[in-house]
Amino acid sequence: PAIFCEHLHHVRYFTLSGRRRSVLPQDMSKPVNKRLSNAFEDTNRPNKQFYQMIEEFRETLEVLPLSLSDTVEAHRICVCVRKRPLNNKEVTKNDIDVVSIPGNGTLLLHEPKQKVDLTKYLDNQVFHFDYSFDESSTNDLVYRFTAKPLVQTIFDGGMATCFAYGQTGSGKTHTMGGDFSGKSQNSAKGIYAMAAQDVFALLKQRRYSSLDLCPYVTFFEIYNSKVFDLLNKKAKLRVLEDEKQQVQVVGLQEMYVSCAEDVIKMIEMGSACRTSGQTSANANSSRSHAILQVILRRRNQVHGKFSLVDLAGNERGIDVRSSDRQTLVETAEINRSLLALKECIRSLGMDSHHIPFRMSKLTQVLRDSFIGENSRTCMIAMVSPGMSSCDSTVNTLRYADRYSQKTLDATPV
Ligand code: ADP
Ligand code: MG
Repeated sequence: PAIFCEHLHHVRYFTLSGRRRSVLPQDMSKPVNKRLSNAFEDTNRPNKQFYQMIEEFRETLEVLPLSLSDTVEAHRICVCVRKRPLNNKEVTKNDIDVVSIPGNGTLLLHEPKQKVDLTKYLDNQVFHFDYSFDESSTNDLVYRFTAKPLVQTIFDGGMATCFAYGQTGSGKTHTMGGDFSGKSQNSAKGIYAMAAQDVFALLKQRRYSSLDLCPYVTFFEIYNSKVFDLLNKKAKLRVLEDEKQQVQVVGLQEMYVSCAEDVIKMIEMGSACRTSGQTSANANSSRSHAILQVILRRRNQVHGKFSLVDLAGNERGIDVRSSDRQTLVETAEINRSLLALKECIRSLGMDSHHIPFRMSKLTQVLRDSFIGENSRTCMIAMVSPGMSSCDSTVNTLRYADRYSQKTLDATPV
């Protein structure tokens, strides 16, 4: 189909990082895969045509998935994307998967579009990240390439941060906190717990055991610029900044932990606290940022700190007319803090001395993570695969794309 080819054309000029291999179909005249067309012949799905165009595209992609045996590269700022599988609700609604992850950090978004004359076409957009995780990726795999390399940093006296960014329902809490679906929550399978396990593994190593490091945990939430302690019945806390610009959350509980299981208990306690009692005032956990910190202290001084942040949902598509004032204020605040975060990470990347941390409570509280030579950060942008989430997915990918230090290799093939 001519339209299909035409809109693929611009994509052709990108090569995958480091390798001169095209992610594009070589032969567009190839007929639609027989099996697929049969499977959907009798289904009157609403977007059958788009579905087939995407499947046709995928048929020709050379896929090279990331595996546990791949080498982990060290980045000061690492930006990744994770796609979750279609969920039951999406499958029931016949939603279609518009995201492909062929490998090498590349992500393709097949955005369904229509011309004025109603012909359908795909706007295929290419994004490059340090890593792109497809829907079959486990938390283990994601952890290995994102937060795991940062654990070392806090032992070396640095600051580490790992952010989960994305729209509500895209998998932020699943990635950070573990699997909370169903009745039994499994916090041991989240990045929080895996990082804690590695902290205790390193504490036992001889080169660090002589440092006399003591591990502590804090867990708190920022909602509408207010800080609540998740390890102390959501006590509301004040944030103070002294004349040296040192920021302090007054009264934040810092719990001593002696093993990874202790940390898991804190995660479960805090997560339960986060979602409980959601009345009008502190409406919904998706509207707040949750921050778990593992702090290493040496003779009472902070030696290193790992902050793991489950950010508030980045959805912007809130209907201004139907939303109450409260929701609008919340949304504005979330947007401000996510913008501030972007600016602060950018400053870190440029080794800038001016960190605009005062722009939001979130960045203010994380201030010490954006300074110093030994600060490292990782952003995991979560995307939902469905066509119904396409607009949000575009927003998420663009936000994450601006962090990316790599420029697109636009050499013609
Ligand atoms: P968010 O915190 O971004 O709002 P959640 O982490 O709560 O989203 O995920 C929404 C739902 O999707 C949950 O039921 C979760 O278990 C499921 N989910 C998210 N990511 C995955 C994944 N990678 N694999 C399987 N299920 C997932
Ligand atoms: Mg969540």
